[in-house]
Amino acid sequence: MALRLYNTMSRSIEEFIPIKAGKVGMYCCGPTVYNYAHIGNLRTFLFEDLLKRVLIASGYEVTHVMNITDVGHLSGDGDDGEDKLEKAAREKKKSAWEIAEYYTEAFFRDFDDLRMIRPSTTCKATDHIRQMIDLILRLEEKGHTYQSGGNVYFAIDTIDDYGKLARLELDRLQTAVREGVEEDEHKRNPRDFVLWFTRSKFGDQEMMWPSPWGRGFPGWHIECSAMSMTYLGERFDIHCGGIDAIPVHHTNEIAQSEAATGAKWVNYWLHGEFLLDETGKMSKSGGEFLTLSFLKEKGFDPMDYRYFTLGGHYRSQLRFSFESLAAAKNARGNIVKHIRGLLKAGAEETGLSGEKALGYRQAFLDAVRNDLNTPKALSTLWAVVKDGGLTADEQYSLLIFFDTVLGLGLDEVTAPEDREVDPEALRLLKERNEAKAARDWDRADGLRSRLLELGYVVKDLPGGSVLEEKM
Ligand code: AMP
Ligand code: ZN
Repeated sequence: MALRLYNTMSRSIEEFIPIKAGKVGMYCCGPTVYNYAHIGNLRTFLFEDLLKRVLIASGYEVTHVMNITDVGHLSGDGDDGEDKLEKAAREKKKSAWEIAEYYTEAFFRDFDDLRMIRPSTTCKATDHIRQMIDLILRLEEKGHTYQSGGNVYFAIDTIDDYGKLARLELDRLQTAVREGVEEDEHKRNPRDFVLWFTRSKFGDQEMMWPSPWGRGFPGWHIECSAMSMTYLGERFDIHCGGIDAIPVHHTNEIAQSEAATGAKWVNYWLHGEFLLDETGKMSKSGGEFLTLSFLKEKGFDPMDYRYFTLGGHYRSQLRFSFESLAAAKNARGNIVKHIRGLLKAGAEETGLSGEKALGYRQAFLDAVRNDLNTPKALSTLWAVVKDGGLTADEQYSLLIFFDTVLGLGLDEVTAPEDREVDPEALRLLKERNEAKAARDWDRADGLRSRLLELGYVVKDLPGGSVLEEKM
């Protein structure tokens, strides 16, 4: 089956046809590094990693570019509020540069923990001010901008298809009062957006650069247009992000990019739906949110979270709960256990030739190539685990192949051996004894599960706890 992807632009599933045969250029909007990523943000990056893995499994060479937003993203998407990094810097009494560096590192720790494949190019907004200024100059030359109150704005009525991605009804929007958005009296149209802020907005902004319009800093949207064009060219295959980017961020990226080049910019737009927590939308700026580190503290492995996200389709909302995460942990644990059993029986990765095994391979590929249908792909995986008609080599080889797309680290599972007790397990046992002494039962249970994953069962005996090898 050909690779089929849902294109937000056409609101339909389309066959994927790359611009250059065998190659894909893909741009993903990266994190705004003023705080830790929450597990909702990470769901979006996991969806993008899945997409990339499916493209690779389909034989494409993928050039994946991701930006790091370290300047210009204001508290409100509509140019209102303060720069998120500057605000965090003030609150934490650090420089904006220190904040950016600290949270970028934290982001990539999560990224690696979740076994996401690093982008071919990661680019920081603050390293590409020149490219942004050049793009704004191009827009200025073509008459798409105006200066007002010291800022440079993009005038949306200079193009005739503004809002096509979100299918915005502009007449209605123009008259409607946008709730919670501080009106900018300098805008000719409320939907116009800032390309370059000067001192007129925040005189004490720490990150500022000289520009033809005065010292200042870029608006948020221009960075993605400038950097994607720098690394992928003026037309490329795929642009993705979370669903919240459609009405403002991606809408404005398209407006300015196509106004500058005079041509179509991106062929396929893909958006991941939100992860919801028990209270509804998970929000980074709202303060309280769940991080991957917190899940780890509770005794979960990052792969449990990855497995959990694969259980839902990327275009459906996914509700997070610790019960569902525990179910994911249990399911993944069973796959790992099954692989250990196969390895103990001497299974090896071999080429697949049997009709049945090839059928499973095809069913898996058909599922993921049909707009990344991971719930269906996982049911194929379970069918393989349960199919006693396959040989151990076939089962093992299929699972390892599936994992090139699922990214669960199944290739690192090893056979259980008669071995000395793993020092890591001894450390966890000690930690668990301390947790028990402190009557922190949740933590003690979490540590028991982690030990189980390492292949040890904890036995609580009258004289203390001991470890026993599983199986
Ligand atoms: P940010 O770091 O705030 O720029 O967000 C990084 C990515 O996370 C963006 O692509 C957002 O669309 C996405 N995102 C934000 N909240 C959620 C959520 N609750 N679930 C899934 N993705 C989200
Ligand atoms: Zn972007």
